[in-house]
Amino acid sequence: MKQKKVLVLGCNFAGLTFSRYLHKEAGDHLEITVIDRKNYINFIPNIPIEVFNNHNPADTLEFEFQKFLKSDGSEFIQGEVENIDADNKKVYFTPNERVGSGQESIEYDYLVVALGCKLAYDKIEGFAEFGHTFSDTFYGNEVRKYLYNDYKGGHIAIGSDRFIQGQSPKLPKMPTALAACEGPPVELAFSMADWLKHHKKGSEKNITLFTPAEVIAEDAGETILKQLLPMMSGMGYGYKKGTIGIKRIYKDGIEFKDGTSLEAEMKIIFPNWEPHSFMKNLPFTDDQGFVITDYYMRNPDYPEIFAVGDAAAVTVPKLGSLGHMECEIASKVLANEVLENGEKIDPLHPMVVCFGDMGNHKGFYMHTDEWWGGNTSILKMGYTPYILKMGFKTMYKTLGGKVPSWGMPLSEILGDHTII
Ligand SMILES: Cc1cc2nc3c(=O)[nH]c(=O)nc-3n(C[C@H](O)[C@H](O)[C@H](O)COP(=O)(O)OP(=O)(O)OC[C@H]3O[C@@H](n4cnc5c(N)ncnc54)[C@H](O)[C@@H]3O)c2cc1C
Repeated sequence: MKQKKVLVLGCNFAGLTFSRYLHKEAGDHLEITVIDRKNYINFIPNIPIEVFNNHNPADTLEFEFQKFLKSDGSEFIQGEVENIDADNKKVYFTPNERVGSGQESIEYDYLVVALGCKLAYDKIEGFAEFGHTFSDTFYGNEVRKYLYNDYKGGHIAIGSDRFIQGQSPKLPKMPTALAACEGPPVELAFSMADWLKHHKKGSEKNITLFTPAEVIAEDAGETILKQLLPMMSGMGYGYKKGTIGIKRIYKDGIEFKDGTSLEAEMKIIFPNWEPHSFMKNLPFTDDQGFVITDYYMRNPDYPEIFAVGDAAAVTVPKLGSLGHMECEIASKVLANEVLENGEKIDPLHPMVVCFGDMGNHKGFYMHTDEWWGGNTSILKMGYTPYILKMGFKTMYKTLGGKVPSWGMPLSEILGDHTII
């Protein structure tokens, strides 16, 4: 049988995990090629932990992946993806090891889009000069330097700009979020307060969380929020909701689109998660440029196109754990088709599974599908969620993204039943 060509675009969480799972399922029958502009994984969720421990996250959270792809027999190309011609099953890219390369093209039988999003800080006036964030190692290290050298003990605002979720009549019915991913701001509020206390620079009272929505972390569901929000306000955190979005950041604060403002020495921002510009107006994307898929992660008009992770329209909130579930499903669906297996595969059941750091070796764990109409709603705090968060990083690094099939269910069992 002639090997089918599978082209995977992007090789961070979703791209690497998908490629490795697909190889496990049907590697001998496929020629897998992966393209990314960089040749290492950026382990984003653990950046805050490294920053608060005064480590440059670039030293500890950039993991190599090429040896894992090589051991699978998958090919890696380092290049900038520039266009997708879905009708001719062709992707255009420019190799980027050195500047000056010419544009190349590559054909596929199956295409898997795992390109994540653009984090649109450039659309926020004043961010470059006055803003801070934790979404990559550069920005994380800037926060570290500020905290350890310049922080004067002033107020800290943590929150999100407005997320513009894509729409399309071809998408499954799903709720609409006004912020892309509010687990990180909530996590940072906890771990920042711990850092302030530990360094005798302040407490929860220094921090205000803000959100463009009517409630922060709405995807955590009502039951969890009824526990979490009163607890946080009792601890002394400030809370500002319904900001609509960020108008601008200035030296001493943030001006919001609802006409109000918030004074702060540090402005820690999560922006709009926007699709990459070349994804807009493609025949398989929604009105923003997110890839339209069903809950098997497959495009209805171009069934040879799949999407996993933040690039997929159904990934809301933009959460790595949702992307992980999608990789398991999409790799099985594709392998099933190539191997002509009739195996039944369950579609994605969207849910939040999240381990957050709270500082002092403690963490929180959320497991809920309430926002999507389900009735699972678990919130736990203690040492176990922190251990699981750190354990996941080690497992991911050691296994090169190929977390065993029992990894997530085991974490859920431990998380759901943890008592410390
Ligand atoms: C501070 C922070 C904390 C977080 N914590 C958690 C957490 O605790 N748990 C959780 O589940 N999620 C968490 N998330 C969300 C999680 O990081 C994302 O959901 C995840 O990174 C998405 O993975 P992805 O592979 O889809 O996209 P990305 O990680 O964005 O990867 C996209 C890849 O595509 C490549 N790429 C993009 N464009 C091109 C191009 N044109 N050409 C070539 N290559 C390209 C990039 O180089 C990159 O490697 C957090 C996010 C942030 C910002």
